[in-house]
Amino acid sequence: MTFENLNLIEPLLRALKNEGYTHPTPIQEQSIPVLLNKKDLLGCAQTGTGKTAAFALPILQILSEKSGREAAGLKALILSPTRELAIQIGESFTAYGKHTRLKHAVIFGGVSAHHQINQLRNGVDILVATPGRLLDLMTQKVVSLQNIQMFVLDEADRMLDMGFINDVKKIIAKLPYKRQTLFFSATMPPDIAKLADSILNNPVRVEV
Ligand code: AMP
Repeated sequence: MTFENLNLIEPLLRALKNEGYTHPTPIQEQSIPVLLNKKDLLGCAQTGTGKTAAFALPILQILSEKSGREAAGLKALILSPTRELAIQIGESFTAYGKHTRLKHAVIFGGVSAHHQINQLRNGVDILVATPGRLLDLMTQKVVSLQNIQMFVLDEADRMLDMGFINDVKKIIAKLPYKRQTLFFSATMPPDIAKLADSILNNPVRVEV
């Protein structure tokens, strides 16, 4: 299996070559076709498996296509439990998206919101966020989720462990009902399975 076999577009294939990736990892091989088909995904995967590219590449591809570009403003949202993970995900979008025209921003708490607000006002397609800062900026009307087409909940089990579940539910309540949802968790305890069930629509399950 190669990335070409996964039907990725040329700007992404070029970026992957720049990164030195020769072959997709198992989660990428299983998830990318499902996501390019616009289906919901329940991914049981740890960090280190290549799960970031498994969701970032389809997001970049779908939003580069004509149908994905139609709405203005924010079209994809990735929620991360920690600032460190959010920054890493942002770096992945920078690397994989460098030959696309898509813009992304990363927002998290514990720092001034000034720079984050300026970035958002300049227009971004993809937002990587921790829950608390996102809710703050939604309340301040700096961020609107009304045109979100793709939503990723990353490390859902850690979200729960860190006490973010109510914030996450408030954010999900503001998302359009018609969207593609990607749910990743290293473990699937009953609380997480219940949350997954409540936000996914007929998902394909991928386990690595
Ligand atoms: P992740 O699980 O998303 O945190 O990725 C773990 C590490 O694997 C990151 O350093 C990625 O840059 C790297 N990686 C992801 N996909 C591939 C691939 N197909 N080939 C080689 N390295 C990869």
